[in-house]
Amino acid sequence: MNRLGRPRHRRRRLGAEARAEIAELAAAVADAHCPAERVAPERIARAKAVTLSWGRYGPAFDGMLEHLDGRFHIYVNLDRVGRPDAPRARFTLAHELGHYYLDAHRRALAAGRAPAHRSRCDWESPNLAEQEADHFAAHLLMPAGRFGRALDGVPLDLSGVIALALRFGASLTAAALRTVACSAAPCAVVKWNWSGVSWARLSSAAFTGRLGAAVDAPARLPDDAPTRRALAGEVPPAEGFFTAGATAATWFSAVAPGSRRDVLLIEQAIPLGRYGVLTFLRLSPDA
Ligand SMILES: [Zn+2]
Repeated sequence: MNRLGRPRHRRRRLGAEARAEIAELAAAVADAHCPAERVAPERIARAKAVTLSWGRYGPAFDGMLEHLDGRFHIYVNLDRVGRPDAPRARFTLAHELGHYYLDAHRRALAAGRAPAHRSRCDWESPNLAEQEADHFAAHLLMPAGRFGRALDGVPLDLSGVIALALRFGASLTAAALRTVACSAAPCAVVKWNWSGVSWARLSSAAFTGRLGAAVDAPARLPDDAPTRRALAGEVPPAEGFFTAGATAATWFSAVAPGSRRDVLLIEQAIPLGRYGVLTFLRLSPDA
């Protein structure tokens, strides 16, 4: 339920204009503080005199931005994000910097209109402010220009996503989302939790228009599909993920089997430990 007591029907999504503005701001911050190398959110916080605590604060939040007497302080919760240099910790710090750099967020905190802000960086929040901070974080760690150039140099598949995640110090999920958003070729990423699909993103409106929505229950996929195998806890091959061919009709309910839109896809799925499974789909070279 929302504050007015009406049922919440749909997750609100950030508009295209807001996404573009936030991406531009994050890239400008990255270029100003870390122009030539891997972005170091800790260095950016230091340059802005935002102080930091790394601690063990239980399950309540990943990160928190606090405003006290004109100063900002970020807490990063090692109980939830792992080591300070882990991708999730870097993303959490970048997300809190988003709340600092985005004018409306900072002003609300500084004016006391918002309490100390507690965040969970899981890409699943229906809260627009959280989506804005996630979007800022993804573009701070993977600014459009350098990410696009790096994307050109790797295969459009999970091996490429893994290489990009390592290069930019980002999580696989964040790197996969940026890959799908930046790729000129049609592709999609689907995040699964233990009860079904968390979310899905397709690379373009044209691809979405052609195929419609992706399946939302693993039971709709064949038993031996990479996604089913990863969700079943099977151990993947040495490269870390399962790969197989699939048809568009298997994955997209609006596509009739054998129709012109029923193209061949490559399906890859990688286990994310307690966070679930990530599926990457692209057109097969034979499509
Ligand atoms: Zn937040």
